[in-house]
Amino acid sequence: ADLVIFNTCTVRENANLKVYGRLGQLKKIKNKNPEMITMLCGCMMQEESVVEKIKKSYRNVDIIFGTHNIFKFAELLSMKVLDRAESKKMIIDVWKDTTEIVEELPVERKYHFKSGVNIMFGCNNFCSYCIVPYVRGRERSREPEDIIAEIECLVKDGVVEVMLLGQNVNSYLWRGDSQEVNFPALLAMVAQTVPNMRIRFATSHPKDMNDDILRAIATHSNICKHIHLPFQSGSNSVLKDMNRKYTREWYLDRIRAIREIVPDCGISTDVFVGFHNESEEDYQQTLDLMKEVMFDSAFMFKYSERPGTMASRNLPDNVDEEVKGRRLQELIDMQVEISHQSNLKDVGKVFEVLVEGVSKKKSDELFGRSSQNKVIVFPDNGAKVGELVQVRVTECTPATLIGEAIKN
Ligand code: SAH
Ligand code: SF4
Repeated sequence: ADLVIFNTCTVRENANLKVYGRLGQLKKIKNKNPEMITMLCGCMMQEESVVEKIKKSYRNVDIIFGTHNIFKFAELLSMKVLDRAESKKMIIDVWKDTTEIVEELPVERKYHFKSGVNIMFGCNNFCSYCIVPYVRGRERSREPEDIIAEIECLVKDGVVEVMLLGQNVNSYLWRGDSQEVNFPALLAMVAQTVPNMRIRFATSHPKDMNDDILRAIATHSNICKHIHLPFQSGSNSVLKDMNRKYTREWYLDRIRAIREIVPDCGISTDVFVGFHNESEEDYQQTLDLMKEVMFDSAFMFKYSERPGTMASRNLPDNVDEEVKGRRLQELIDMQVEISHQSNLKDVGKVFEVLVEGVSKKKSDELFGRSSQNKVIVFPDNGAKVGELVQVRVTECTPATLIGEAIKN
């Protein structure tokens, strides 16, 4: 490669450690190929201690930039290309100031048929374990007109599914001179402007998941029936220490509301074990909540302490690694079983599937996702990537639905 870019994530420690591992590998490659340019970006670069460490121990990195000046990518790269002959100096350009929202960035899309659209940046919630507010700054919502304009461009380019993105999209709020637009209003605006586009959104925070949002999903058939609603822990005392600002009862009430207002909604979640003082009893409540809700899928983690967070200062990381590992494995095993149960319930039903590509396991099969965000595999019926197909589910595994396309 002429250019290697590592786009980093610092939410959990593991991801950070991987970056250092990769930088080590890169050293050898770069020694053989000194012309190669290496760039580091993403929220790990917003941590001063990380940049210091790279400056000291990984001298062969050429450019470091952060999340708030991502638009300078091309400029920084051309500086390096032009200077290469004379300068061996590392270019470091990381901004602390997070007030800016820069519109009309050039885009290169990973898929031609689906795309993410940021509707807001940053986070104000300061969950005690989380580094995001420190590296991503305070919450800033984009102007609705800019969001709509970007989505209309996507339609012209043939994109058929957008994912509205933010750390806590439920608290999206744009205050203009004469109007205020909240998240349910934005959802309705987008759904009406692009009626043939499938619309998704993530991530939702339980404290802000109100019935207006659910009604917007229920009203507009092009808003996908899937909600990712992280619960993090089933124990009220752990939730309090996490500063999540809701209780187990509140969370379960939101699940009830989802099931009532959007009956066929897929629900997924995030949860992590081993936070400060998590007892066996607390952990049991997490298991119980998962059994009660029966999530379709879940991202499950072990707590890792992140520098600068409230927890790192005041709530010692005092659950044994071994205990964390055991709890996590049990959680995963249980969720595999629950996901299987959830999939079994779909056997016999028909779903509209957006075709995403050829199945990795069998070249004569296609795969795609239902509105509920479940992966469905079916024999190739000639549909193209990006097309919508009606598929009847005939069988399933814990992770995948298997079906056959039906004629419209
Ligand atoms: N804004 C989203 C998700 C942010 S990070 C939300 O509030 O839900 C994605 C997930 O990583 C979190 O939901 C949480 O489950 C996990 N996570 C965040 N910080 C963590 C930490 N220090 N240790 C382990 N998991 C963490
Ligand atoms: Fe982190 Fe909490 Fe903000 Fe999510 S809501 S990004 S977990 S501080």
